[in-house]
Amino acid sequence: MGMRDGGDEEERVNDVHDIIIIGGGPAGYTAAIYAARANLSPYVAEGFGAGGQLMLTTDVENFPGFPDGVQGPELMQHMRGQAERFGATLESADVSKVDLTSRPFRVWVDDEEHLANSVIISTGASARWLDLPSESRLRGFGVSTCATCDGFFFRDRPMVVVGGGDSAMEEALFLARMASSVTIVHRREAFRASSIMVERVREHEKIRVRWNAVVEEVVGEEKVEAVRVRDTRTGEIEDIPAAAMFVAIGHDPNTGLFTGQIALDESGYIETTGTRTNVEGVFACGDVQDTIYKQAITAAASGCMAAMDAERWLEGGMSSPGPVSAEPAGAVAQSTER
Ligand code: NDP
Repeated sequence: MGMRDGGDEEERVNDVHDIIIIGGGPAGYTAAIYAARANLSPYVAEGFGAGGQLMLTTDVENFPGFPDGVQGPELMQHMRGQAERFGATLESADVSKVDLTSRPFRVWVDDEEHLANSVIISTGASARWLDLPSESRLRGFGVSTCATCDGFFFRDRPMVVVGGGDSAMEEALFLARMASSVTIVHRREAFRASSIMVERVREHEKIRVRWNAVVEEVVGEEKVEAVRVRDTRTGEIEDIPAAAMFVAIGHDPNTGLFTGQIALDESGYIETTGTRTNVEGVFACGDVQDTIYKQAITAAASGCMAAMDAERWLEGGMSSPGPVSAEPAGAVAQSTER
C-alpha cells in the first residue's frame, strides 16, 4: 500500500496506513500481532536484520511458555508467523527516512513512500564495539559480536570474550561448547551479570577470567592470533593467545533515523512515557526505549502496550492531518492521560 510521488489526493488519503511499525523483533512483532487483531492491518518494515537480536541467540531459557527453552530464531519465526496470520504485512526492508513533523507521517521503505496515521518505533539496539583499529581490521576474520554466528569457525581453538554482563557470560558459555578454552576479559573485578550466569561460568572448566584488563589490540595480520590486554592496576601487558575475539559489551539504541525529530535521552534512547513519545501519534517500544530491562519478554510486553496505546489514540479521534507539535515527553503524557 505504499505510494510514489504524484498520487492524487484521494488515493493518497485512502493509502494512509493506520499503523506503520518500524523494526522487527519481539517488540515489533508483538505490536503487529495486537494491531492486526484490532483490524488495523499494520504494515511492518522489519529491516534487513528482521528478528532483531534474538536472531543472534541460541537458547532462550527465560521466555515464559517454553519450559525446555527455545531457539531465538525459532521464537522470532513464530512471532512473525503469528503477526502474518492475523493480517499484518511484513516487509524485510530497511526504512531509509522518516518525516514525523506532520500527519500523516511519512516513512520511506527503501525508496517507496508510505503514509501513516500512527507510527510504532521498535528498531531495537545494536552491539557495541571497542573501537580499536585492529578490531575493525579483523572484523569478520575472528573478531565478532555474535558467538552463535561465528563461534563454529574457531572450534577446538582458544577464544576470548570481552565484557562482564549477561551477554558476555552467555557468549562464553556457548563458545565453551566448541572452544579449546575461553578467556573472559573484564575491565573490573566484579561481573555485572546475574548470579546464575556467573555461577555457570565459574563452574565451567574451560572458562577462565582475566580481571581488571582492557583490550589494547587484537594481534594478527589477516586473522586473530592473540588479544593484547593491559592490566588496569599494574599496567602490565599480556598477549592472550586466541583465534577469535567476541565483543559483548552492551548495545546502542538504533535511533539515527529519528534524531532531531523525536526526544532522545543523552544515550540516544527514545524518551517515552508508557510507550508514548513526545510526538503525538508516535509510539516506541522494546530496546530502543528501554535502558533498564532489555529482555525479550519486556520488549514483547511493551510492543503489546504500544499497539494498544496506538489503537486507543486512533480511536480517540486524533486531530486532523497537518503539522504536529513535538512537546516534551512529560507534557504529552499529561495531555493524553486516560
Ligand atoms: P551490560 O550493559 O549489562 O554489560 C556490558 C558489560 O560490558 C559490562 O560488564 C561493562 O563493564 C562492559 N563494558 C562496557 N563497555 C566496555 C568497554 N568499552 N570496554 C570494556 N568493557 C566494557 O550489557 P549486556 O549486553 O551484557 O546485557 C544487557 C541487558 O540484557 C542486561 O540487562 C542483561 O541482563 C540482559 N541479558 C540477559 C540475558 C539472559 O537473561 N539470558 C542474556 C544477555 C543479556 P562494567 O561492568 O565495568 O560496566
